[in-house]
Parts: sequence; structure tokens; C-alpha cells
Amino acid sequence: MTYPIASPWYGTQQIDARIWCLTEPHVHPIFSANIFLVLGSEADMVVDSGMGIAPLRPVVDALRPDPAKPLILVTTHCHVDHIGAAHEFDIRLVHPLEAEDLAHPTPYSLDTAGISDTFRTLFLDAGYPPLWPHLMDALPHAGYDPAAYTLKGAPATRTVEDGDTVDLGDWQAEVLHLPGHSPGQVGLWHGNSGTLFGADAIYDGPLIYDGPGMDVAAYAATLRRIRALPVQRVLGGHDPVFGQDRCHQIVDHYLTLWQA
Ligand SMILES: [Zn+2]
Repeated sequence: MTYPIASPWYGTQQIDARIWCLTEPHVHPIFSANIFLVLGSEADMVVDSGMGIAPLRPVVDALRPDPAKPLILVTTHCHVDHIGAAHEFDIRLVHPLEAEDLAHPTPYSLDTAGISDTFRTLFLDAGYPPLWPHLMDALPHAGYDPAAYTLKGAPATRTVEDGDTVDLGDWQAEVLHLPGHSPGQVGLWHGNSGTLFGADAIYDGPLIYDGPGMDVAAYAATLRRIRALPVQRVLGGHDPVFGQDRCHQIVDHYLTLWQA
């Protein structure tokens, strides 16, 4: 299998004066997650760390006005597309229910041959395109060997639970426990700007609620909680940023679907 080289590997988009979104455009849409960088006066924060196919930290540091500041990685949950580069960060926050997976991640292959029919059907039913031979359609550099891909353990340096605060000095966000898609998933709520970092609880694409470790009843409660927040914008775990009207549409769609 020969693939083109995609360099730079990461897509970079500025959301506002302090928030950046990094993406992996050559990763299959199911596994192409958002990585957010939030700049603060005392510390900066990264939310999730992608697949780990290419080094993330240098790309993040190049966007930071002061790379010597502390950099806090918040891992929303431990699916492969959110933890790949976690080991590149020194300060690692995760919910206690995900801590074991972060320390000892389940091995994952970029070759999709081993992905079961159950998962293929789940992804197709959710509305995603069929899987590719590999989870990506390009290489980050010449000579990259997809077979050598591994997930490195990155034990949490601190666990966070619902109601905790992530403090960047002039910007604070509240940790929200948003179970359903995974048991210990967290989002972040910045009330001053009505910004929700929704993780895989809510994004503007097919939500995944029917796999191992998932719980539709918990997911419905999570979506009802999100519906009640004075959301101005949602920065989800996948797909572009969206506003309150779309947030309500998505929530209402799934709550109706699950009642049927
Ligand atoms: Zn996920």
C-alpha cells in the first residue's frame, strides 16, 4: 500500500483569540477527532490528543506565545482517537473511570482488517462512510510504517470529577461528567462565554451510542443536561463548531430517536 505524504499532518484553525482547533484531515472521519488548544495567562490547556500518528506537542508549542508555561492535557475519554499523543504531555487530567485505560490503553492497529463486522455495521448504521484499508489515507512522513503504530500508556497526574475546575489563570472551566458514550467521559463548560467542550457527548456528526462501554440511558441524561445549559457554542470532539440552535436540534433528534 503506497500512500501520499501529508505534511503538515495536522490541520490548524483559530477559533478565537485564545482557542485553536487542530485536526487530522487524513484520518478516516470516524477516528478524526478535534484537538483544542486554549491559551491562558498562567497555563495553557489541550483537550484531547488525537491518534498519535504524528508528534503533536511541537505543533501545539508552536502556537503558544509562551511554551515555557505549564500545559495541561485534559483527556475527555480514552477512545483511541482522543489519546494517541497523551504521553507527550507532562500534566494529564482524566476522570477516574477512564484512568486505567489512559495508563494501559487497549492496543489498536491502523490496519482496519481486524475491525469486526459488528463495529463496521455500527459505524455504517451511525452514518459514517465505509472504513478504508487503514485508518488514514496518507502518511505523516516518508518511511512511516503504519504497522509500527502503538498507543503508549500515559498515567493521569490528576483525576478530575464533575464540578472540578481547570484553571488557566484568566480563564476557568468547569468539568462536566458526561457519561453515555463512555463511562468516564468529561466535557468542559466555560460559563463566561457559554462555551461547551462537548467531547464525544455532542458534535455535529453521527453520535456513537451503541458500542461496548456505552449506555443509552446515561447518554440521554447527558444530552438533557447539555440542553439545559445556556450554550452559545459547542466545540465538539469531532466536526466543526456549532451554536445553540444546532445544539438543541442534535439533542432533540437523539432523544426522540431513543424514545422510539
Ligand atoms: Zn469516543
